[in-house]
Amino acid sequence: MSNLVYERLHQNLRDLKMTAIEEMLDNYLEIAARESTPVMEVLDRLMEEEKHRRERLSLENRMKWAGFPVRKDLDTFEFSFQPSIDAEVIRDLRTLRFVHTGENVVFLGPPGVGKTHLAIGLGIDAVKAGFNVHFTTASTLIERIRSVFLKDALDTYLKNLTRFRLLIIDEIGYRPFDADAAYCFFQLVAHRYERLSTVFTSNKSYGSWGEIFQDQVIATAILDRILHHCTTVNIRGDSFRLKDRKRLGIVPPELKREKS
Ligand code: ADP
Ligand code: MG
Repeated sequence: MSNLVYERLHQNLRDLKMTAIEEMLDNYLEIAARESTPVMEVLDRLMEEEKHRRERLSLENRMKWAGFPVRKDLDTFEFSFQPSIDAEVIRDLRTLRFVHTGENVVFLGPPGVGKTHLAIGLGIDAVKAGFNVHFTTASTLIERIRSVFLKDALDTYLKNLTRFRLLIIDEIGYRPFDADAAYCFFQLVAHRYERLSTVFTSNKSYGSWGEIFQDQVIATAILDRILHHCTTVNIRGDSFRLKDRKRLGIVPPELKREKS
């Protein structure tokens, strides 16, 4: 191969951002020449390397964009600890059919029962399957929608969120929504309705969502859309956080009081 062709080949690979092939080319060509490997085989191996690198980078990027606060895999979830969860329902959710069909999932239950773990676990499954996912908390969302609403940029913000096939909104219920935030939240839910999936977690049962949004009418309109195509996982049971403490006999004073 002349120097000119060699230089051009490398330059083209750089221009086309085929970085894996560019890095491996010299090595592969040397081995191929030594072992008389057919050209097709060399090309095939180089393309495979490039494809794998791109898939890996794309997965890493999607994982970064998702913004999970911690990595929680569904494989590490102990269903035996939380018998109120039907493992079959979670297995079915893991097929990610609900993402394909734009349906919702709501995890309800008291603190520590695994709502965030399950939501992140499903999110990680979706990222691995190639979906764009984004994790946020209701509190962060309230701040965000308040600022975009004031700037008259709600439509653009909602449009931006449509690039996430799965949006996870954690911890609905810890902080009440004021009237503007409730209206924006309704817009968000309406915007995603029947097209894009959302996973919600909440410590409050649906009957109390009127208090969260401080307006029964808007709460009903929000729930109406969320629940039309939705799997609700109602978790009742002990906090997993207490498991080890209980085993060691260290129970917080407030729980001891409750029990006595
Ligand atoms: P919630 O969001 O319901 O308050 P989390 O999902 O944050 O609860 O769970 C609290 C902690 O306990 C996390 O570290 C989580 O990974 C863990 N956890 C909860 N339930 C389980 C479970 N059944 N199996 C394994 N880990 C669990
Ligand atoms: Mg949580």
